[in-house]
Amino acid sequence: MREFVSLVAPPKEQVDPAWWFVIQDDNVLVRHEPNGEAIPRVLNPLELGLTTMRQHYLGRLDGCHCYAVEVVDGSAPHRGMEFEGLRKIYGLLDDDLFSLAGKALQIIDWDRTHRFCGRCGSETRTHATERAKECVRCGLLHFPRLAPAIIVLVKREHEIMLARARRFTAAMYSTLAGFVEPGETLEEAVVREVKEESGITVKEICYFGSQPWPFPHSLMIGFTAKYASGQITLNDDENVDIGWFAPQSLPSQLPSEMSIARKLINSFLQETNSRST
Ligand SMILES: [Zn+2]
Repeated sequence: MREFVSLVAPPKEQVDPAWWFVIQDDNVLVRHEPNGEAIPRVLNPLELGLTTMRQHYLGRLDGCHCYAVEVVDGSAPHRGMEFEGLRKIYGLLDDDLFSLAGKALQIIDWDRTHRFCGRCGSETRTHATERAKECVRCGLLHFPRLAPAIIVLVKREHEIMLARARRFTAAMYSTLAGFVEPGETLEEAVVREVKEESGITVKEICYFGSQPWPFPHSLMIGFTAKYASGQITLNDDENVDIGWFAPQSLPSQLPSEMSIARKLINSFLQETNSRST
């Protein structure tokens, strides 16, 4: 993994080629290469033949400057390059460039949705030294939006709880997840979310790991928890099905390998395997 230093103020002059994370809508520009995708590394995005709009400096990746820049809708990239969704390029781009692409998308999205102050309605400008947009009239600072959400794998002996959410398009089952409410601890959010979605009470909540989820601006905070009491009841508003699943009878469609949901499920499978060998 290369070292990334997050910075706000760009260099006075860009003299070497930099990584340009070029955003159009919800997509990022990639160059097709024989063994995957690459992010363009050029001195100036104009070299890519695109008309640029808002721009933010991101920092340095192993000493090389990184920028997020938005291009106008409809401007077509050079041959061999394409605007692609983040989900599509997962696994085709280096991990560090992939996470920077997610960061670039979120920063551009935040910039375009915070052009005016939420308090007085005046225009905002980019703050010189902080990752913030500042109201030109009342000075209110608007920081990038980040919505913390808990995601939890609930275990009961050798089974796990999975649900098919109403919002899923395919017949996919996943772990339970939900946004943290103001004034709530992460642990309280886990207990509340599981109760709301399944009717059961959990105990022994353990931190698992976290994952930025730029669709569009979540931070997923993963936990495992154990069943304490109650019976599963389906909450129609959230899910079309919910139940306990043993390792040998998991649903055929699970979340993608890139998601923390899948990492939680995989860690349970590993645990089960190591117990049975
Ligand atoms: Zn204002």
